[in-house]
Amino acid sequence: MKIIVLPGDGIGVETVSVAVAALEFVSEKFKLDLELHHDIAGHESLKKYGTTIHSGLLEAVKSADGLILGPMSTYDFKDESKGEINPSKYFRKNLDLFANIRPAKTFPGCGTPHKPLDLVVVRENTEGFYADRNIESGGSEMLITPDVVVSLRRITRVCCERIARAAFELAMTRRKHVTVVHKANVLRLGDGMFIDSCRLVGQEFPEVQIEEIIVDAMMAHVVRTPERYDVLVTTNMFGDILSDLTAELSGSLGMAGSINAGANYAMAQAAHGSAPDIAGQNIANPFSQVWSVAMLLGWYGRRKNKPQFVTASQVLESAMAEAIAAGESTRDIGGKLGTKETGQALLARLSRA
Ligand code: NAD
Repeated sequence: MKIIVLPGDGIGVETVSVAVAALEFVSEKFKLDLELHHDIAGHESLKKYGTTIHSGLLEAVKSADGLILGPMSTYDFKDESKGEINPSKYFRKNLDLFANIRPAKTFPGCGTPHKPLDLVVVRENTEGFYADRNIESGGSEMLITPDVVVSLRRITRVCCERIARAAFELAMTRRKHVTVVHKANVLRLGDGMFIDSCRLVGQEFPEVQIEEIIVDAMMAHVVRTPERYDVLVTTNMFGDILSDLTAELSGSLGMAGSINAGANYAMAQAAHGSAPDIAGQNIANPFSQVWSVAMLLGWYGRRKNKPQFVTASQVLESAMAEAIAAGESTRDIGGKLGTKETGQALLARLSRA
């Protein structure tokens, strides 16, 4: 398996290097024969090449089997004409990575005051209220007069149905329960189509129970009774917001592992951003990126029918869970170690696995 590694901005350099070391370790142990190619995107690339995405990078990424993308300082990248392209958007759009899979699980020992949960947010990743990806060219936010802005939200049946199918397929491997999170009381047409699509696709999965909850109430329900939820499927922006909440409920945003998957390609990228407030301090939790990488191996192994990748993914996740239970983690989840030391402890644990 060939993987391109782009460490990203802020804490990305610290967290991605922990994930890559863990990946190299399992590659050796399980004979995965991983080929890692290191490149740059984001601020480092902007400084070196005058653009956050240098020429030839997309082709290199396409020629690989997967991508590891560190967190990006997307808020800094405002003007594409100055080379400031949002790398997260760029890869999601150009590789058609429509399913953003964001699990949230309470690992024993992670010191959260909240009720335990074990759920997955399945977020549509290619349209919705994301002005930078829902039209072919230009942005879908318009300055009508100096004081009036119109932002367009695109919802299509094809995108609704494919994300619904991803959610139901995932639910079949879990507790067979899908919650459709929407705002169809206000966004009657767009979220109405989203719900209709989920109901239609749901008919193909008669074993899976389906329920529908309005997004604002969902925020209360998931705090109050998180154990009720298994797979939550929703549109782009709601999924982005909801998954930060569920990650924090599980212990920390630093536990927010995620993959962005398309029909034939997947990108491992933690759900959180570049965390400039803690960058360079050796305190960022690397497990979000480690978990993302474990998910990428699992995704590849299941697609290609290569069980050793699935095993490596499970061993990585188990080692992470054991490390958390033993307090070998960063402060955000109650541990006492730095980012680097957490990575070293994980490697020691993997070598005993
Ligand atoms: P953020 O997600 O970077 O951070 C929010 C809070 O969570 C901060 O207090 C941060 O310290 C903490 N946090 C995040 N990751 C952590 C980790 N691994 N361990 C411990 N604590 C962690 O959100 P922000 O500060 O609003 O955004 C910073 C930049 O990241 C912005 O430019 C934003 O646009 C960008 N962003 C990018 C992505 C992405 O690339 N997928 C996602 C969200 C935000």
